[in-house]
Amino acid sequence: MRCEELEPIIEGLADGTADPGAEARAHLAGCALCTRRGSQARAIHELLVRREAPAPPPGFTAGVMARVQRQRWRAERAVDLGFNLAVAAGVLLIVAGGVGLAWSLGLLRIQANLAVLLEAGARLGGRVAPQAQTIGVAGLLLTMALGLWWWAEADSSF
Ligand SMILES: [Zn+2]
Repeated sequence: MRCEELEPIIEGLADGTADPGAEARAHLAGCALCTRRGSQARAIHELLVRREAPAPPPGFTAGVMARVQRQRWRAERAVDLGFNLAVAAGVLLIVAGGVGLAWSLGLLRIQANLAVLLEAGARLGGRVAPQAQTIGVAGLLLTMALGLWWWAEADSSF
């Protein structure tokens, strides 16, 4: 057996995890180089065993756990916001669809109500807009824009 063959298992021999076998033992007994390598590996192993694990700074565990909680909370909040936005958008679409359908079917009551609303709006704003659907779409877009703005604001406050 040559020294190169013994080298890969020399650490295992030093910490007792490898069985050298008769051939390696015979080589070790007669080789000064491998004996020296073995004692060096044993010394390193003993040093590592005796070495104390460095203690983490005070509050390290609490800090890490608080950070993990914060990250999880942020992720959940982002998911909640997305879900609420999706629900709000869905409700808006349903409402807009219903209004549009009623409008296109020419339901008199809704037309009358919209006319009343338009007159009230005209009195308040001083402008008359005959296309109620345009106003509806504009309102929808405004609501969605405000929703997006609110969402972006909430997102950037993290
Ligand atoms: Zn040797």
